[in-house]
Amino acid sequence: MINAENQGHLECVGKGWHPLVLPLIEQCEAEDVKVFQVKEKFGGLRFYTDGNTSEKLNHAIDSAEVACAKTCEECGAPGTLRTGGWLKTLCDEHAKGRKDFDHAQD
Ligand SMILES: [Zn+2]
Repeated sequence: MINAENQGHLECVGKGWHPLVLPLIEQCEAEDVKVFQVKEKFGGLRFYTDGNTSEKLNHAIDSAEVACAKTCEECGAPGTLRTGGWLKTLCDEHAKGRKDFDHAQD
């Protein structure tokens, strides 16, 4: 169970990414590292801490950022970066109706 403040950080990104982000937050709590901000930017995960992270945690954050770039932020299915309008990493299902996706299907 993570603390309420960190739960708030977790909820700043879509549910599809929670399984990737939750272990990072748990590791931060285990290492007594403060999480400053968790957000989606340009379709990718950004995970900011106070910087007192172990090498192991740094690697975990890097891997999660790479993994999120290939994971639908809505549902966790394999996704790709969608570029029409605002950038977002989504699976085909959740990209439907977006301009870039519809054009790709023409
Ligand atoms: Zn999806």
